[in-house]
Amino acid sequence: MRSSWTEKRVTVTGGNGFLGRHVVKRLERLGAQVFVPRQRDYNLTTLEACMRCMLEHPCDLLVHAAAYYGGIGINVNEPAKLYYSNLVMGANVMEAARLTHVAKVVNIGTACSYPGYLEGHLKEADLWSGPCHASVVNYGLTKKMLAVQSQAYLKQYGLKSIHLILTNLYGPGDSYNPERSHVVAALVRKFVEAEMSKAPTVEVWGTGKPVREFIYVEDCADAIVLAAEKYDDAAMPLNIGTGIGTTIRELTEAVQAASGYKGKLVWNTDKPDGAMMKVLDVTRMKQQLEGWSPPTSLRDGLEKTIKWYRANKAEADAKW
Ligand code: GDP
Repeated sequence: MRSSWTEKRVTVTGGNGFLGRHVVKRLERLGAQVFVPRQRDYNLTTLEACMRCMLEHPCDLLVHAAAYYGGIGINVNEPAKLYYSNLVMGANVMEAARLTHVAKVVNIGTACSYPGYLEGHLKEADLWSGPCHASVVNYGLTKKMLAVQSQAYLKQYGLKSIHLILTNLYGPGDSYNPERSHVVAALVRKFVEAEMSKAPTVEVWGTGKPVREFIYVEDCADAIVLAAEKYDDAAMPLNIGTGIGTTIRELTEAVQAASGYKGKLVWNTDKPDGAMMKVLDVTRMKQQLEGWSPPTSLRDGLEKTIKWYRANKAEADAKW
């Protein structure tokens, strides 16, 4: 039987990136015709390049997964680049999509868009209940503006789009550069290197108390493809996560155990903790995606990630 994806033309911005690559793989497996714009050919921060991309490669579905992003370090060091590149790219990609009559747009958002000072699991209805956490406001707000743009474009132009709010991703192909990486990749690299060199200590940032949620990148790609097919409400974003909170201390111990490192931890409390709690409520995700939830446990995901990192260390370390 032909699936609904067969022959569908899909453009995936960021399709060569950490997440986008897995989205492309799944779409191709389902039979879709996928186009991935390369940055050297289409600089998506300009409307001219977005238009050229969509006119040269017309698509039925656009997955906007391109983003300039990173962990708490990059948010401290590059707030302006995060702000400008993501805001302008998002605005132009959507504008070109409506001018070229794309049937549906899937925008990839972030849990950093949520109010940073709420307690408990973050529900879609809470998106506008307070300010973003100061540590991630520049990135978080640009993605939040995409959710606003989605609603405005539906109202005025009838453009169909959805906004998916992703929790923290990890896995093979992530950025393992200590200045850019998120916590999982940072810890994987630190512990694997410390185990190899038999270093007596490993430095971990902050107090270890913040709570985060981690989704394995391949699971997240599955959810995106499923949501592209099954979710249609432009007025309400959809959370994508595990709903499971893990403290940074628990994560650190899990990565340490999986790496086999036997030395000591040193907590550097001069480094920022960021938001104290960032965990999504995934009730609507399970309803809307017909009972789907991420199949990979944190333990299995960390084992796969460490195995991949060990086997691809030089390549992983060289990537920004
Ligand atoms: P966030 O989720 O946006 O806050 O970004 P990160 O993934 O970068 O950081 C999550 C938490 O992990 C913060 O509390 C960090 O202080 C903590 N953390 C501990 N060690 C590290 C590290 O080596 N790198 C990073 N990026 N975060 C670390």
